[in-house]
Formats: sequence, C-alpha cells, structure tokens
Amino acid sequence: MTPPDELRARVDDVLGRIDDSARSAGRDPDEITTIVVTKFHPEQLVRDLHALGVRDVGENRHQEAQAKALATADLDGLHWHFVGQLQSKKARQARAYVRAVHSLDRDSVVDALGVDDGTTIDGFVQVNLTDDPGRGGVAESGLEALVERVVATPGILLRGVMAVAPLEGDPRPAFAHLRSLSDRVRRLAPEADRISAGMSHDFAEAIAEGATHLRIGTAITGNRPEPR
Ligand SMILES: *Cc1c(COP(=O)(O)O)cnc(C)c1O
Repeated sequence: MTPPDELRARVDDVLGRIDDSARSAGRDPDEITTIVVTKFHPEQLVRDLHALGVRDVGENRHQEAQAKALATADLDGLHWHFVGQLQSKKARQARAYVRAVHSLDRDSVVDALGVDDGTTIDGFVQVNLTDDPGRGGVAESGLEALVERVVATPGILLRGVMAVAPLEGDPRPAFAHLRSLSDRVRRLAPEADRISAGMSHDFAEAIAEGATHLRIGTAITGNRPEPR
C-alpha cells in the first residue's frame, strides 16, 4: 500500500528541518536518530512509515507497544523504542520487543529489565528536569546512583540520558542543563554519550544542545487519536 502523500510530506518536512537544525548547530545530521512516536495510532501508520524509510519508532505504553510490535514483526529492520513509564512487572515482556528503553527512572525497573543471557538492549536514564515528581524521571540527586545501577546490570547497555522539557518556558536552557547532566553521567560511564531529547515543538533547541535521539510524534504523524 502506498503511504498517504500527506504523511510523506510531513516526514520530508520534519527530516529537512532536522537537517537544517543540525547544520546550523555545526553538527552532522547523520549523528542524529529520529524516532517517530506512533502512540495511539494504528498499526497501519507504522507500516506506512516503514514504507517511507522510517526504521525507529516509539511507544509509551507496554500493551499497545507489544501488540504493534507483534503485528509488524514482518517489517525488516524496524526498531522499537520504549519512551514511557514502564511498570517493573511488564519489563521482562517489554524486553522481548524493544531495541531501547529511554525511560529508566528507578532501580526496580532496571533490575527487572536486566538479564544475563548474552542479549542486550540499549538504555537511557530519564532525568526529571522539573520539581514535579509526577513528570517521570529520576531526580537529579539520584542520577549517579541510578547510572551505577544500570552499569552494573547485565543485558542493558547504558547509552545516555533522556528528558522531556518542562511544559512552561524556553526549552533551550532546560536542554543545556540536560547536557551538563550528560557530562556528569559520562564521568561514570564514558561511552554513555547519547542524549534523547527533543519532540515535535522543541527538536531544534534540543539539537542545538547536543541531542542525538529525537522523539517526534505529532509533527510527523499528525494529531493523535484519543487513547483507547
Ligand atoms: C508522546 C511523546 C513524544 C512525542 O511527542 P510530540 O509532541 O507528539 O512530538 C516524545 N516523548 C515522549 C516521552 C512521549 O510520550
């Protein structure tokens, strides 16, 4: 099936803007991975995106992610990124289909994801850039301890940090701060130099502050249907 022209236009537009933002930040666009967040959208959207060359997709709820990953298992080279809060008791199941978990935010989920069978998934420690514990992510004061936990856990390769910009205010200083937290992490884990940051409305600012993994939803997918 041919993907709708509208979707193709949005993919081209956003990828073009990502390229421009990278170049104006003096960065190589090839070092940036764009993850298209498909949450609440049907399986067909994932198929359409794949037909357009998208290979990294993201979801924030386990049940929905698992169902879509299973339903699209025939698509070559598709990688699933888990970007939402993960319940420890679902972690083992999520491990079966994810390439990466961007939302490692507490010991219990790290412990539940760990497995010593020779397989690995990528992990990002999610940091809360606000004072609101409801927004997800480890508090900055707990960052080093959580990093050490991930590093000590078999089967998870720590890649770096992840954060969502605060709802209010200029995202750029928030992403600059995230970059300083990334420096802190690299003191403990020098290889963990990736930064997962930037969404539909703030990816340019995130790229300017070193983001390597963008999580883009609506700018590419269009408005999300109501969650089911
Ligand atoms: C939904 C979601 C995104 C994408 O958001 P948009 O504003 O639609 O680009 C990115 N990151 C996380 C953690 C999300 O839950």
